[in-house]
Amino acid sequence: MSRTSGKKRNETRLLVDRMLGTLCRYLRLMGYDTMSANSIAPGNPGEDTLLLGIAFREGRFLLTRDRALAKRGGSQAVYIRPMCVLSQLHGLADLGLVEPRLRLTRCSLCNEKLIPALTREVSGANYAPERRDGIPFYWCVRCRKLYWAGSHTRDLADRLKKEIMNFA
Ligand SMILES: [Zn+2]
Repeated sequence: MSRTSGKKRNETRLLVDRMLGTLCRYLRLMGYDTMSANSIAPGNPGEDTLLLGIAFREGRFLLTRDRALAKRGGSQAVYIRPMCVLSQLHGLADLGLVEPRLRLTRCSLCNEKLIPALTREVSGANYAPERRDGIPFYWCVRCRKLYWAGSHTRDLADRLKKEIMNFA
């Protein structure tokens, strides 16, 4: 059986500017295909236009702290005003763009889809928990990083649940 799923769902795709690094990581852990402007070489004076081009071409919502840029993007862009990442997520949930739920289907570092980890990948990671029974592990082939619903995601899941889901 293949470790990758061929199933494609029609769901929100996002592009975030350089100011929204934390939001970017959270959105990926929530399973959203989220491209970061940090993947574009810095110093390009036409970066705003480049970002808009990607947003329209790839059907990604551009999330930006730059009000003028958001305005240029029209309905394809969202101006992110709050500083706090939970408020940012709350706003996106209110707009119906995201569902505040942790899915652990993408690597928070590189956006690659995670796949079920093999035993050797779990045992090869010195940061894996000692008690592994019943815990599903996931693997990023690009970063060679192991993920599981554990201490590093529990906090995020709790915060999403407490601070956003109850209000959404
Ligand atoms: Zn990765």
